[in-house]
Amino acid sequence: EVLETFTKSDQYHNSFLLHPDEGLEHALEHSAENGLPDITVAASQGKFLRLTALAIGAKRVLEVGTLGGYSTIWMGQGLPEDGELITLEISEVNAKIARENLARAGIRNARVVVGNAKETLASLPTEEPFDLVFIDADKEGYPNYFLEAKRLVRKHGVIIVDNVVRSGQVADETFARGCSKCRAVRTLLQMLKEDKEVEATTIAIANVKGYDGFLYAIKL
Ligand code: SAM
Repeated sequence: EVLETFTKSDQYHNSFLLHPDEGLEHALEHSAENGLPDITVAASQGKFLRLTALAIGAKRVLEVGTLGGYSTIWMGQGLPEDGELITLEISEVNAKIARENLARAGIRNARVVVGNAKETLASLPTEEPFDLVFIDADKEGYPNYFLEAKRLVRKHGVIIVDNVVRSGQVADETFARGCSKCRAVRTLLQMLKEDKEVEATTIAIANVKGYDGFLYAIKL
């Protein structure tokens, strides 16, 4: 019942603020046809990622967790012609679908790198920093991915981490004991509390996907 309220509200706002986009719509359809799970960001969140890229004048964007490239397309649309987007995905199958979706959406400056993000992130050089990093892969990897993102982002660059609220389950100590995803987010929050090199805040979100949130961090 609450999801119905969130969905109606999300759709109402979107009807004013989001415009039909063939590339994005095709990406969702083509992903579903090929059996990819429906675990993308919501459209309103995709737009937020695009607006963030535009607001900070991002030229280099890094994504951890591609799936079918839906969020990748949103961010790619916020990059200039000479921008560059690297997106990391463990599944060869997902990467293939993502490349097809990106091509169809006219995003030419995105590169899908296949491998375990634990290793592919470690192989990226600190000397070529990113303006924006979006983390949305396996939640258990979040503490590690955040440390790598911090290493790879420029001063005042932005790191956004998805699914940090999880319907309030992350904040529920008893629930979190049996939830490895929740525990990983709790570890990340504890790390941030002690980290003097970043400032961060959680933006809780209620939309068509339910009740969850983005962690939004800036490297100082
Ligand atoms: N960002 C996508 C979007 O909004 O359209 C959704 C990403 S989906 C939630 C998470 C993706 O991370 C899946 O495609 C999964 O295969 C990938 N993944 C899981 N573990 C990974 C790992 N260790 N390294 C790289 N990718 C991983």
